[in-house]
Amino acid sequence: MKVLGLMLLLASSLMASTEKDYAQLYADELINNFDNLLDQKLLLNDQESILTTELYAQLIAARTYIEAKEHQKERGYIEFNPQKFEKIKAKINHIAKDIKIEIDNNKERSSVIYPSVSSAGNLTGNTYPRGVWSLTYDDGPHASRTEMTVDNVYSSGIKATYFMLTRNAKSLPKVVDAVLDAGNELALHSYTHQNLGSSSRTERELNYEIITAKKDLENLTNRKIKLFRLPYGAGTRNSNLRQKIAGQNMVHVFWNIDTLDWKDKDPNSIVARSLKQMALTPKKSGIILFHDIHSQSVTASNMLVQRMLNDGLKFCTVSEVVSFLNNQEQNCL
Ligand SMILES: [Zn+2]
Repeated sequence: MKVLGLMLLLASSLMASTEKDYAQLYADELINNFDNLLDQKLLLNDQESILTTELYAQLIAARTYIEAKEHQKERGYIEFNPQKFEKIKAKINHIAKDIKIEIDNNKERSSVIYPSVSSAGNLTGNTYPRGVWSLTYDDGPHASRTEMTVDNVYSSGIKATYFMLTRNAKSLPKVVDAVLDAGNELALHSYTHQNLGSSSRTERELNYEIITAKKDLENLTNRKIKLFRLPYGAGTRNSNLRQKIAGQNMVHVFWNIDTLDWKDKDPNSIVARSLKQMALTPKKSGIILFHDIHSQSVTASNMLVQRMLNDGLKFCTVSEVVSFLNNQEQNCL
């Protein structure tokens, strides 16, 4: 009996690849496709944003799927099951259908940026002045990595915009101070990083993630928060969400360069992927997305910044660019 029990246990662990494992595998496949598509676009000089493709929506969906299973233990693909893999892929592709990315160049004609549910209230980087970039960090602060990015940014003589989670900021107030003391900009990325674009969210949850999150972060830092970024960028076309953000006097901030640093652990490929996307932007300008919670992001963002400074590119915080676009205020440019 004991032997049989052990054999059953072994058999079950062999079959135990989790949904999260398969989702990770799918995300790797999608990133590979993303990089291949990017190479094709570079070859053709096709400036249509790669972030409006179904492929990119699937990548975001894969991330929401993986992070919703945050506590599921990863076991690796011990016995690869093609049917199970196809099933998880189909689930993620279904989620992707609801992820509507608003980064359409043609829709963004507004030259004035202000809190609203229209394109004027959703900054994507595509209307940035030529050669100007904003470095943005999401999902922090992190106990050790955020300050590494602050040190790098400070010693490079630039400023970045940090989209923080109020939950993390409250537990690491000294890290928040370090970010602000170095002259960086503080922005909001919700209370706890839920997918607010999901149809299952209640009004109470949305209010907590946007309104309470803003109030608590402002009370913690004594700063007015003017910028908000939806977790995963999900829900930018949801007017209820956008109304809540605008109602709190915040502009929504998307991005036009996705480093994919949440999944890719190799700083070299992160930098290469970023530079290729940058080369394809209409005005060689925009908003770069990093996450200050991963070690590869600390390294990759510093490598990218050094490269960009060598190339004579300019960095401004998101709000500095907003003031420039609105009033031609030259506080950074
Ligand atoms: Zn995020």
